[in-house]
Amino acid sequence: KMNTDIGQHILKNPGVAQAIVDKADLKQSDIVLEVGPGTGNLTTRILEKAKRVIAVEQDPRMAAEITKRFQGTPAAKRLELILGDVIKLPELPYFDVCISNTPYQISSPLTFKLLATSPSPRSCVLMFQREFAMRLFAKPGEKLYSRLSVNAQMWAKVDHVMKVGRNNFNPPPQVESNVVRISPKNPRPQISYDEWDGLLRIVFVRKNRVLRSGFLGTSTVMEMLESNYRTFCAQHDIPLEDGPSEAAMTEDMDVEVEAQDDEWDGIMDVDEDEDLPDFFKEERDKKAEKAQGNPNRKRKGKVAELVRSKVKKVLEVETQLADKRARLCDEGDFLRLLYAFNQEGIHFS
Ligand code: SAM
Repeated sequence: KMNTDIGQHILKNPGVAQAIVDKADLKQSDIVLEVGPGTGNLTTRILEKAKRVIAVEQDPRMAAEITKRFQGTPAAKRLELILGDVIKLPELPYFDVCISNTPYQISSPLTFKLLATSPSPRSCVLMFQREFAMRLFAKPGEKLYSRLSVNAQMWAKVDHVMKVGRNNFNPPPQVESNVVRISPKNPRPQISYDEWDGLLRIVFVRKNRVLRSGFLGTSTVMEMLESNYRTFCAQHDIPLEDGPSEAAMTEDMDVEVEAQDDEWDGIMDVDEDEDLPDFFKEERDKKAEKAQGNPNRKRKGKVAELVRSKVKKVLEVETQLADKRARLCDEGDFLRLLYAFNQEGIHFS
């Protein structure tokens, strides 16, 4: 009756279940968020050590089973069950620690959601597919380095807890697993999560690309930055001179950088489980349109020119990162970039 399609691999080794809970260093006063309690193998051990468990379970059959398991026991009052998809919850309830034998299809969105949670939880002990776990630790230049790596290391300290072989589960999954502990930095870095992640989303669409082409060579990115800049100016009463620019130059510039970009097409890899931002999909459509020679292509406006010159200045002068590839940039590079962009009034959220 277990449905493996939705990642229901029940932990059958009690030693591993106990070790996961022990590694969370729970206090009697803790509120614990458990994602996907399943039949409650972890839940029962968490309830022994913590004040309260808030368990989010998507599958009603599992929810019924776990309810039955604790019915009539003193622990029942300390277990709150939320039936639903944890990713779709508009806001996570307050919790001190998160423990999860994570269904692998939500590893990425769950991690981002936990990293964005403010106030930060004290720690998150999570079971992941091994390769996903390795991505959390990846450094610039390594194959698995991605937006996930940068975000995890920016907002948290990541520790390896233990390896867990496939045969500890029923049914055994296809892949090996690792337990990791993500301890959010306290205090949180004083930057906006949305600004930071907005910048990373742009540069990691194609991590082999140089930053110049990720920005200046990608018209949908430039349009998004222009739109954000207009909002920024409106909010700060900065007057903008609007209207079409005299120069027809801009289109040639676009073509020039995009051509340079194309030589990378063969080896550019988009991170598979990164959800592609909308602007990237639009970009693909536009390129296709352009290849067919769209005669109605608009001439760039003055504001677009201004934003373009600001972006150029940030990349070429202020940070001198224009020719660096995203996969080689480290946290310091991204922080310098964000700071320089924000100084120019360029925002990502
Ligand atoms: N915690 C149990 C254990 O360790 O034995 C079960 C783990 S099983 C890998 C994952 C559980 O997460 C399943 O019970 C599944 O129904 C649930 N689940 C899957 N996707 C979910 C989601 N998006 N939100 C909440 N629960 C989810």
